[in-house]
Amino acid sequence: MHNTFKIMQRDALPASDPDIDKILSEEEKRQQESLNMIASENLVSKAVLEAQGSVLTNKYAEGYPGARYYGGCAWVDRAERLACERAKEVFKAGHANLQPHSGASANLAVFFALLDPGERILGMDLGHGGHLTHGSKVNISGRYYHSFSYGVDRGSSLLDLDQVRKKVQEVKPKLIIAGASSYPRLIDFRGFKDLAEEVGAYLLVDMAHTAGFVAAGLHPNPVHFSDLVTATTHKTFRGPRGGLILGQEKYASLIDKAVFPGLQGGPLMHIIAAKAVALKEAQQPSYIKYQKSVLNNAKALARAMTDLDFNLVTGGTDTHQVLVDLRNKFVSGLEAEKALEQVNISVNKNAIPYDPRGPYDPSGIRLGTPTLTSRGMNPQQMHEIASLIEETLVSRDSPEGLGKIKQRVINLCLEFPVYSH
Ligand SMILES: *Cc1c(COP(=O)(O)O)cnc(C)c1O
Repeated sequence: MHNTFKIMQRDALPASDPDIDKILSEEEKRQQESLNMIASENLVSKAVLEAQGSVLTNKYAEGYPGARYYGGCAWVDRAERLACERAKEVFKAGHANLQPHSGASANLAVFFALLDPGERILGMDLGHGGHLTHGSKVNISGRYYHSFSYGVDRGSSLLDLDQVRKKVQEVKPKLIIAGASSYPRLIDFRGFKDLAEEVGAYLLVDMAHTAGFVAAGLHPNPVHFSDLVTATTHKTFRGPRGGLILGQEKYASLIDKAVFPGLQGGPLMHIIAAKAVALKEAQQPSYIKYQKSVLNNAKALARAMTDLDFNLVTGGTDTHQVLVDLRNKFVSGLEAEKALEQVNISVNKNAIPYDPRGPYDPSGIRLGTPTLTSRGMNPQQMHEIASLIEETLVSRDSPEGLGKIKQRVINLCLEFPVYSH
């Protein structure tokens, strides 16, 4: 039955480009038949897919609604205004810019708006869960700005604001970035704002991973405790691939100019329309229910993994992520990722704080629940999946054992189809 499985009906593509059509079909099958536990991914609604795949891709609209450099923008102006209004409502922000093509572009636009090249920025260490765009030396943020980093406490793996304060006082940055890619706990944005004010720095909160919980009112809203907030729209938020910037009204013109003409050319109007669709979804009661389930499932997964003698970084989770320290299991992050891939469980290898191993084969893996929850899975399945992970790591040298586990994974996936409606 699953050989004929199709997510999107395609009319023209099969004949015009059978190669790409086949790739899409194979990818649809892969998504259907694997347990996606990559914490930064999700499964958007069909409505979001339809807006993304629409004729708005044909339209150039450099500028902002009412002030474009091209004619014919009446309808895309409406789409972008709707998207901005909805973003301001959902996140209770004075201003919203929906044009950033990605989370990375959103961050760069904020730097471009607030800083001159060479000025000091302070972000979370990449190896402790921070993001490349927060000042890593291989990223433009660490090459064009003078970047410094803070880390987590060596004992607890938690952010300790007293330790961060020491860094802030030592570095005296012009901009502090709070927010992370692999940190399973709540971050005290208000505390960060106090630290920033002590040295007259701006605070940027990058909530790329947690925007869905903020939208649902389940996590504190950083818009109230920061100068600017950036996010991706495709992670927990469950919209199209892209970014956004939120802030108080007073930053509106500075941010808009930094995005265009500062950094980008024409906005992706089909994606902005899809962002509007996702923002409307975020205002429905079912969305709050969904985000609550993502958090519940992560807690259930953390408990089940702990019961199987896995060590979790920080001992648990307040978010959608569970960071597993594999050292007591005598398997590396890369080995685990590869073994799990063979049984159709997608995870990513991940550094743990103060990792004794290198970044290409670190000591941990990162697990996430957004996609599994979008498929309708519950704590019962989280327990089952924790066992499947444990069994996979134990059987990783037995092709026969892995084959049997893979069949169980596929059966579970078919019980919870993607795009079942
Ligand atoms: C994912 C992520 C980004 C970058 O988003 P892209 O859309 O991949 O550019 C930025 N910051 C954080 C904290 C992230 O987790």
